[in-house]
Amino acid sequence: MLEKLAALGRISRQLDPQQGTRKYMQDEVRDYTESFLTGLPASRTYVQDKGRQGFSNAPINDTPTDISELLAHFRQEVDTTGINPASGGQCGYIPGGGLYPSALGDYLADITNRYSGVSFAGPGAAELELTLVDWMCELVNYPDTAAGDLTSGGSIATLSALVTARDARGIDAGEIPRACVYLSGQAHHCIGKALHVAGLQDIHKRIVPMDERYRMNASALKQMIESDQEQGLKPWLVVASAGTTDTGAIDPIPEIAELADQQGLWFHLDAAYGGFFLLCEEGRERLHGVERADSIVLDPHKGLCLPYGSGAVLIKDGKLLAESNRYYAEYMQDAKQADYDPEAASSPADFSLELSRPFRGPRMWFPLKLFGLKPFRASLAEKIWLARYFHQQISAMEGFEAGPYPDLSIVTYRYLPQNADANDFNKRLLEAVLEDGKIFISSTTIDGKYTLRLAVLHFRTHLENIDYLLNILKNKAFELDRDPRASLERSGHS
Ligand SMILES: *Cc1c(COP(=O)(O)O)cnc(C)c1O
Repeated sequence: MLEKLAALGRISRQLDPQQGTRKYMQDEVRDYTESFLTGLPASRTYVQDKGRQGFSNAPINDTPTDISELLAHFRQEVDTTGINPASGGQCGYIPGGGLYPSALGDYLADITNRYSGVSFAGPGAAELELTLVDWMCELVNYPDTAAGDLTSGGSIATLSALVTARDARGIDAGEIPRACVYLSGQAHHCIGKALHVAGLQDIHKRIVPMDERYRMNASALKQMIESDQEQGLKPWLVVASAGTTDTGAIDPIPEIAELADQQGLWFHLDAAYGGFFLLCEEGRERLHGVERADSIVLDPHKGLCLPYGSGAVLIKDGKLLAESNRYYAEYMQDAKQADYDPEAASSPADFSLELSRPFRGPRMWFPLKLFGLKPFRASLAEKIWLARYFHQQISAMEGFEAGPYPDLSIVTYRYLPQNADANDFNKRLLEAVLEDGKIFISSTTIDGKYTLRLAVLHFRTHLENIDYLLNILKNKAFELDRDPRASLERSGHS
């Protein structure tokens, strides 16, 4: 047996590389990331996926591979195709981030592998995460009763919020046929998904009409709630957006809060995209009344520029979050008391869908502390002004039509060709911009119209990126409008 253990130990120790090997691996990874970062300004933001070998020629088996070979593979297969989310040219969908100190925070979190779920196990790790949650509660002006959780993203945070709202208002099997939820047609699809996962797919979904700027119409909401009450139904939840994904529109938060108060509805605010604009004056002016929501979702991997995998849920009456998530197992008896008191919930896992969880604190804490808040405030204000600048410029550019003046940092726009189908033309315009690849933009359909979108949020996006985009839009639209193939199609159509 001892011989066997010695032999196994010799091999299993390969999982624990020694100092020299660690240094070699670190140097290789650091060289890679340095060349990635210094190459960013010159590299494309979008490369259409073609000509990859895939991972099938690198099977996972008993043979070890050198790290330099792995990095070459990673560069070829992962880092040179599709959208580059680390680039300031990423202005499509909702841009992410990837702050450098977050990577260092993750590195520390992963090497030490501290468990932040239960205070008993990792008192400092747990406190770090609770401190970050408290900081966000303060940002949205929540009272001391509030609690929250660092999640993997906005979708999971939304699920947690809606489960809490369901339990808090007693929406059980008996109530499902009567329960009503109110949301606009621009609410993020993660709301529908969360309702489904929470077993609430059969409740009444009321789609509230919007005004001409794609914001929920509060008086229509009032009428819908009243009419449901008259029919003996149970208005339960209203979902508003502090910045919709499509157009960046902010629903009338104070009016919706007022109605929710009067009628006893749970008010959920989806601030996944827009919430961190509270850090700058320009954003705060637009986000009045967020503290009146019963639950708020924020995405630090959007407005705070963290790497993907960073969401947050905040609940104004924090003990409700604990009541929905509190479970106990005998094997955890050293860490928790069986007669659990949600008022005294004190560990991140008490507020979380997860038990074992990544130590998410350092990726947020490092950049916030290392830089201080000032550059975050400036970057967010800069993004609002870049969107306003783009809106002004594109409105003045011949042939283009801009959507509403931006509430935050998203602008919709399209080109109106003289003789071609506008939907078809704008599709080709988008393709031309993506073929250039320097700036990535995306599109949406609004009122049946194919519409281009600019979403500015990345910390590396500055005036030069926006000017580059304006220039390429102008040139490509001009080329396409004169393209003989396009005019052939036109005559073919007529
Ligand atoms: C991104 C987004 C979500 C979903 O968040 P994920 O982090 O992608 O899961 C929800 N709502 C809005 C408004 C968003 O922009």
